[in-house]
Amino acid sequence: MLEKETNTVKPLEQKVWLSSPTMHGDELEYVKEAYETNWMSTVGKNINEVERLACEKVGCKYAVALSAGTAALHMAVKLAGVKPGDKVFCSDMTFSATVNPVVYEGGEPVFVDTEYDTWNMDPVALEKGFELYPDVKVVVVAHLYGTPGKIEQIKAVADRHGAKIIEDAAESLGASYKGQQTGTFGNFNAISFNGNKIITGSAGGMFLTDSKEDAEKVRKWSTQARENAPWYQHEEVGYNYRMSNVIAGVVRGQFPYLEEHIAQKKAIYERYQKGFEGLPVTMNPFDAENSVPNFWLSCMLIDRDAMCRQVRGEQESLYLPEHGKSCPTEILETISSINAEGRPIWKPMHMQPIYRMNGFVTREGNGRAKTNAYIAGGAVSEKDGLPLDISMDIFNRGLCLPSDNKMTPEQQDRIIEVIRTCFE
Ligand SMILES: *Cc1c(COP(=O)(O)O)cnc(C)c1O
Repeated sequence: MLEKETNTVKPLEQKVWLSSPTMHGDELEYVKEAYETNWMSTVGKNINEVERLACEKVGCKYAVALSAGTAALHMAVKLAGVKPGDKVFCSDMTFSATVNPVVYEGGEPVFVDTEYDTWNMDPVALEKGFELYPDVKVVVVAHLYGTPGKIEQIKAVADRHGAKIIEDAAESLGASYKGQQTGTFGNFNAISFNGNKIITGSAGGMFLTDSKEDAEKVRKWSTQARENAPWYQHEEVGYNYRMSNVIAGVVRGQFPYLEEHIAQKKAIYERYQKGFEGLPVTMNPFDAENSVPNFWLSCMLIDRDAMCRQVRGEQESLYLPEHGKSCPTEILETISSINAEGRPIWKPMHMQPIYRMNGFVTREGNGRAKTNAYIAGGAVSEKDGLPLDISMDIFNRGLCLPSDNKMTPEQQDRIIEVIRTCFE
């Protein structure tokens, strides 16, 4: 096997994580307040405060604090009226929690391919989707890695076909498109306070809306759907999805640091960008004219002609080292060898064993045949020579870089240095 220059970059003394919680001390005060006042349940001041803070930050009328972003998405899918057998268009390159709630309600996700400009749902492919599946009434769209997608165009396509939008802003809290915060574009919107997100409660999520009626429904459903009666009275199925007042204390303590976290993440992104100058790679792109990302995760994409050979099975991955070239597998192994955590790009949903039989739409139509051709030899479009399955292309050539906001510039320089050795 070909040997590259021995990696001489010293391992990091302290592990650098992909993205870990960053606490500031205020969180503990609010948790303590909950404890000392005995509001140790799913009601209390912390919950009211985080709902107020979220509305103030994002610019919506109502927020309902829930146990997870996934719970918020589930409530959104219910409100959107998804029924068993209904097809629902979903972002393809995203975390599985974007699409699983569709299945909870018996819906059938149909995945829409990704575009290269922001790595989010391609509005052109979505339009194609409505040609193939004219009955679809709901679109679930995520903003991956904190980068706003082409939400205005996506909304326009959905509007034209009378479909509603569920916006998954779990990764993009604080990011904006044309001055408007993500989490306000959908008919139903969700954010997350999971441990690795831009701010965290250790867990938690929120449903955001301007509709009083929808907010009230989510409040009711998420607290076991109790009717207004002296006893436990039920007319609808309920859920135990409300946020705990203890968790809300953590979120409350984090909110004032959202902008600080974003500034740190942005500095990390820019440092990578500069550090990779001269390498055959690009950073995860965004529309600088119309959007401001929250830079939650920094990612890189290797140029096509700088990719060494890499094969991925269902559980493991192999590559052939080559001078002047590299691949995500080599880079991830190399940064891991110096004690830093990266991650492959979120594996597209249409490639997941559980969703392998679901529909997948690309710009050119039904994507399934193209995916198979791509696996066989790299099918490209006759028009522009680009791959037909863009999600798969980004998954093959891209990776998430260590993006922890507690990473020092010195630690990041070492990570950059060791990545540079991969291309020697
Ligand atoms: C984290 C995440 C979710 C789910 O949020 P939880 O709070 O972990 O349930 C949903 N969608 C995306 C894109 C996410 O990254």
